[in-house]
Amino acid sequence: MSNDNANQSGYAKLGGLSYLNPAAPEPWASFIEQIERVRPYLGPLERWIETLKHPKRTLIVDVPIERDDGTIAHFEGYRVQHNLSRGPGKGGIRYHPAVTLNEVMALAGWMTVKNAAIGLPFGGAKGGIRVDPTALSPGELQRMTRRFTSEIGLIIGPDRDIPAPDVGTNAKIMAMMMDTFSMNRGGTATGVVTGKPIALGGSLGRQEATGRGVYLCAREAGKHQQIPMEGARVVVQGFGNVGGIAARLFRAAGARVIAAADHTATLVNEAGIDVPAAQAWVAANGGLAGFPGAAPIDIEDFWQLECEYLVPAALEGQITPERAARVRARVVVEGANGPTTPAADDVLRERKVLVVPDVLANAGGVTVSYFEWVQDFSSFFWTEDEINARLERIMVSAFDAIWQVALEKQVPLRTAAFIIACHRVLEARAERGLYP
Ligand code: NAD
Repeated sequence: MSNDNANQSGYAKLGGLSYLNPAAPEPWASFIEQIERVRPYLGPLERWIETLKHPKRTLIVDVPIERDDGTIAHFEGYRVQHNLSRGPGKGGIRYHPAVTLNEVMALAGWMTVKNAAIGLPFGGAKGGIRVDPTALSPGELQRMTRRFTSEIGLIIGPDRDIPAPDVGTNAKIMAMMMDTFSMNRGGTATGVVTGKPIALGGSLGRQEATGRGVYLCAREAGKHQQIPMEGARVVVQGFGNVGGIAARLFRAAGARVIAAADHTATLVNEAGIDVPAAQAWVAANGGLAGFPGAAPIDIEDFWQLECEYLVPAALEGQITPERAARVRARVVVEGANGPTTPAADDVLRERKVLVVPDVLANAGGVTVSYFEWVQDFSSFFWTEDEINARLERIMVSAFDAIWQVALEKQVPLRTAAFIIACHRVLEARAERGLYP
């Protein structure tokens, strides 16, 4: 194949976008493939499918700061609004040294699908900075966050695009973003970000919401697969906000968390890890490494542990076809965004491992972010019980609707979720028509 041809097929995998690198197509190429899998089910809406392969707005910003030692450092920041047909953009901000435009685009695309699959009135967006936040002092982190917020302030706002925490960011960062946006605007705008501290218009239950949604999806899948929660074995990769909280809820419901992995260690304890103790260890030590209540194993052995539930809750691209061939879980519940490649999805399907896809399983976070945004607009706040009850209602009804489509069309849950979501997004697109 000539170089030109190779480049052409590389760009085809990327949906034809020239500004991405065909030599490093993931994870945007996975998103494009997932969209292509829905094409046969779109009927007349297929006419609009290219919309989903072209992010509406892609902003790349330079974020310069003065470091504590007097030198100047520059960081690369992004905000991508993948689709705004159904409402303002919604999606997290990631601080991680491996962030790329390609990754932020894929994450924004998955937010479009997730919000539509659950029925939230948002489009999809995502942002990030290519930085190791642990290498910055608190002052440097604050200066970087405030400059970044000012730079993307051109396109965010309570009725335009509403960021939230993701990997490497938290409620404190959201407070800085809210303050910076409000200072620039000249008035307090609590609804510009979600996942804020409670004192600033944050919502009760938000911090736990994604892990809670993961647990609820596992419980619902277990009902269909005849898996009793009592005594079910659970394996979790990623022990942060999503993985740690999901693990705690599994354990509280009587399941046994037999293995946990993070960026510092992979640990196993067949009798069940004491999750609250492990969470306290991570809070004090920055990672699972050295936790005395479990034994270290090799990460490659981790993927083949026999269990009822495998919960990838770290980063994307973790379940490759090679790892999928060794998985001995009955259900994979995707806490992370994009943890399973499309080729690995096929391997898991052949091996009859049920996959509850990210766009459903980790939607609890954005659902309570939606509640936070609504509460901020009305300045009227709900109790935690109300929030958890509303979250459970939305998650269970979205699960049932997706399960039904999967049965009717004999497709995996991921394709079913994409069918529902793409119909909603493209119908909105078609109804609005093209401007001008
Ligand atoms: P976090 O920063 O709180 O935790 C991330 C965890 O992943 C940490 O335990 C970290 O050690 C681990 N990790 C990182 N690199 C790893 C590696 N190479 N191998 C093993 N473990 C590794 O982040 P989070 O908020 O829990 O997010 C985790 C995933 O869930 C991400 O994909 C994120 O996009 C997704 N997600 C988060 C939310 C949310 O509300 N926080 C919502 C939806 C989806």
